[in-house]
Amino acid sequence: MLQPIVGMELNELREFLGADQPAFRARQIYQALYRRRIEDFSAISNIPNSLREQLQREARAGLLPVASRFESTDGARRYLLALDDGRTVEAVFMPEEGRDTLCISSQVGCPVGCRFCLTALMGLERNLTAGEIVAQVLRLATDNRLEPAGKRVNVVLMGMGEPLLNLPNVIKATRILTDPEGAGLSPRRLTVSTAGIIPRIEELGREPVRPKLAVSLNASSEEQRREIMPITRKYPLKELLAACRAYPLRGWERLTFEYVLLGGVNDTDADARRVAGLLAQLKCKLNLIALNPGPGIPFRTPAPERVAAFQAIVRRSLPCFVRKPRGLDIFAACGQLKRMETARPALLHTGGGQAQAS
Ligand code: SAH
Ligand code: SF4
Repeated sequence: MLQPIVGMELNELREFLGADQPAFRARQIYQALYRRRIEDFSAISNIPNSLREQLQREARAGLLPVASRFESTDGARRYLLALDDGRTVEAVFMPEEGRDTLCISSQVGCPVGCRFCLTALMGLERNLTAGEIVAQVLRLATDNRLEPAGKRVNVVLMGMGEPLLNLPNVIKATRILTDPEGAGLSPRRLTVSTAGIIPRIEELGREPVRPKLAVSLNASSEEQRREIMPITRKYPLKELLAACRAYPLRGWERLTFEYVLLGGVNDTDADARRVAGLLAQLKCKLNLIALNPGPGIPFRTPAPERVAAFQAIVRRSLPCFVRKPRGLDIFAACGQLKRMETARPALLHTGGGQAQAS
């Protein structure tokens, strides 16, 4: 089996090439891989033939082939990418006016068990390696012809999985993606989202190179959060907010909170006022996501007027935005990633929710 080199940092690549290669050769290959996203080593023209042949004998780029791709009417594309062990993982490309967003997975499945999320129904199959995380970004960038180190690209670790339960690999992937020598993504354009793994939030805050942090709040009280996010029993809301207050934000940074609105559960005016109160002391913004329904999800999507009323109340205290659902028709929206092999819009209605036009 050829060794994939994606996921190697410069020093690892140097070691892989062997001591008899001058150090600048590793840098040339590193740049070809992460900056130019070269998959075929024969296209690396600035290295000697012998080294190209050595690479071809021993290695491969490892940029995860596309197993299937679904196109939404709104321009979003959902990908199933093939991993070496026969599994697949999901990633989503979302073009927008002025910027593009890549939504990337950190695990195959997720062990956290939030009751509104389809990925939860899979359980955890395994963590992704740093290389598999980086390769999702490179593959989607190549497939959509995005500029290398494009200023318009945002990357969010909001696909399958709980990134903070795979923190070492997420941090390593962050170092590679944000290295100006390589992929060159700005750390301001890379975000991880967590269900609230408190000790890992503290650990993340100590990392010198780290993505921005988003926290899935999803409830306005301890009891309500315990109902819909069982992880709250282990990591209570009160302590989660304390960890957020203690989080060492960089000068330019603010926290993002996410809030999935579940009709009749956490979407009342009183909930909105409580949420504004909980976040009052924090430098943050709140993103509202009306539930994206799915088979087996026992909640309904609130009406657009309810979402707007909730937003209006929170806005009196802090910046608050409504996240537009993308790719609903191909099961690409938040919480819908469950590795479905087909896009089956008919299933959208079996959750009892109402699919929103996007
Ligand atoms: N595990 C991480 C990141 C992936 S989930 C986390 O939970 O934060 C990304 C976002 O999608 C989270 O904010 C989550 O609350 C939201 N989400 C999950 N299921 C959803 C659904 N069915 N509809 C809308 N948003 C959902
Ligand atoms: Fe996991 Fe996030 Fe889904 Fe919760 S919402 S089950 S943490 S992917």
